[in-house]
Amino acid sequence: MIKRIRTVLAVFTLVVSCARAGIDLQNLDRAVKPQDDFFRYVNGTWLKTMTIPPGESRWGSFTELRERNWENVRAICEEAAAKTSGASAIERIVGDFYASGMNEAAVNAAGVTPLQPALALIAACRTPADILLAQAHLRLLGVTAGFSLSAGADAKDSNRELAQLRQSGLSLPADGTLSDRDYYLNDDDKSKSIRTQFVAHVAKMLELLGDSPDRAQAGAAAVLRIETALARGELSRVQLRDADLNYHKLPVAELAKNDGGLDLAPYFSAIGAPAFTEVNLAHPEFLKAFTAQLASAPVADWQAYLRWHLVLTAAPYLSAPFEDENFRFYQTVLSGVKEPKPRWREVAAAVDGSRSDGIAGIEGGVGEALGQLYVAKYFPPEAKASVLQLVANVRAALRERLQNLEWMDAPTRAKAVAKLDAFTVKMGYPDKWKDYSAARITRDSFVLNVLHARGLQVKRDLAKIGGLVDKSEWNMTPPTVNAYYSVEVNGIAFPAGILQPPFFDPQADDAVNYGGIGTVIGHEMTHGFDDHGRHYDLHGNLVDWWTPESAAKFNERAAGIVRQFSSYTVLDGVHLKGELTQGENIADLGGLKVSFAAMEKALAGKPREKIDGFTPEQRFFLSYAGVWRDAFTPAEQRRRVNIDPHSPGEWRTNGPLSNLPEFWAAFDVPEGAPMHRPAGERVTIW
Ligand SMILES: [Zn+2]
Repeated sequence: MIKRIRTVLAVFTLVVSCARAGIDLQNLDRAVKPQDDFFRYVNGTWLKTMTIPPGESRWGSFTELRERNWENVRAICEEAAAKTSGASAIERIVGDFYASGMNEAAVNAAGVTPLQPALALIAACRTPADILLAQAHLRLLGVTAGFSLSAGADAKDSNRELAQLRQSGLSLPADGTLSDRDYYLNDDDKSKSIRTQFVAHVAKMLELLGDSPDRAQAGAAAVLRIETALARGELSRVQLRDADLNYHKLPVAELAKNDGGLDLAPYFSAIGAPAFTEVNLAHPEFLKAFTAQLASAPVADWQAYLRWHLVLTAAPYLSAPFEDENFRFYQTVLSGVKEPKPRWREVAAAVDGSRSDGIAGIEGGVGEALGQLYVAKYFPPEAKASVLQLVANVRAALRERLQNLEWMDAPTRAKAVAKLDAFTVKMGYPDKWKDYSAARITRDSFVLNVLHARGLQVKRDLAKIGGLVDKSEWNMTPPTVNAYYSVEVNGIAFPAGILQPPFFDPQADDAVNYGGIGTVIGHEMTHGFDDHGRHYDLHGNLVDWWTPESAAKFNERAAGIVRQFSSYTVLDGVHLKGELTQGENIADLGGLKVSFAAMEKALAGKPREKIDGFTPEQRFFLSYAGVWRDAFTPAEQRRRVNIDPHSPGEWRTNGPLSNLPEFWAAFDVPEGAPMHRPAGERVTIW
């Protein structure tokens, strides 16, 4: 099979592949034994010799690929921006967006002027009802304050788009989906110090917006008060994983009963949502907290809060004083980044619109316009066909595992297999592309391009309420170096960006590709059966299809994973959060298991040659551990532990491998060795 890939993908290789095929042996530290610490054996020399670049908070294989990939995106953007005549509509949108961001002089000269209409609207608020309307207006610029209204598949009727009212509107340690209530509620010195610095930062930003120092101080204190009160009503990040805790469908007319009498109708109409009769009040306690604050906090406090959220969203795209102060707090204080990235890099990221930290999906940008240019240049159709074959092989291996799982009873096994068989696969890029002409992208204002693109996404999303779910839509842009499983679609998706070395290399041997992209494919597939995904059926509906016996056995195994990962320390006294990361850890373990099995099948009957002295099985694990080579600044490590459901690379490697007999066999790991978990603690799920 790999020979076929080689022939077919010759073009792909010439264009994309800049790393050499295979495994970089110079990163190995041969003084460390594989059985003691496999992560350090594979990556030890790299760890000893690398320094995290001053513009980064983490560095490793993943980030190296991401940065190389941004260079590719940059080339596309520059080419589009340079075309003064003969540009296609898509090239014009991408080129104009990019050019507006690279015109630093214009960005600096405009200062805060582009935000004036929104600031005037906030300033004109006199009552809580006005605040709600201003909040709706800001949402149409992609600013999430207070709560969020969006469309999302009804968890119990996954073909229907349901209005979703969710908690939102905090800004630590990041805004929107990555905020975390614990930053407001924890009482340790570190948390208190971050809050003190947060208030100073908000005050500085309000001053930049034109407030006097006294007014800015008072405003910043109000922001912390409101956000803390909202945080008290929020679910924790672990609770957000529990599908039932996040599902409370009710008639819209009943909302007022649940939220203490708040009339949201004017908000719904101001935001331009189509009329709807049902809503998922995902977080009732949050809406109560919001309503209580809206009624009790002075309007002036809410005005400060809205001004803050507007500038929080806009700051990275505004003039230098805003950009610098935003960088200082969010990048340096919270993530330990020493220097800003080059301007082109930030601008390219804004054009793409993916969240920069690579945890959550898309927030604006024109990523599918950019994506069309990207795949035309970097991802020929032949590449798609070849990775689809890998997917088929890994899927077959998982199917076989499911059919033979000793701990799952026959009725549950049959349903699990049916769910796997119903999986859809998205590869590289969408079949139909989004249109961005309504975003009004021009060369005139970078920040307005960003806000209008974000607003267009919000409008497009809201328009879906009450309609049918379009399961062909993507939650990542084609250049993204990442992949995902979607519970409501019951499908996996691999953007073109991740189909490059070190994950996928058509020139490399099977072991490299199965240890790389194969484990990612298996990882995404097993998300359909992890602590979260297992609660959804083959149609993407929240339905319990497990017998109580099989569910109990799964939970027992998952608890073993939680215990194991909670025992790992990443910094002085900071442990991984086993519950928060369990879905990803389960997926890593499952991904390794099924991709390894798929590789063994692919190798059957072929001559088994050693390369550089390593067997294919050994190279599989070398490839895997190389993919997860990474290092973090201490500040970023701390932030990630709190909000990132993924474990750091060291534990993504040593955690699952210490449970895996296939790994022990490949490297002759004896019982009693650190990488060989004793029988009582060992976890096997898939
Ligand atoms: Zn995952």
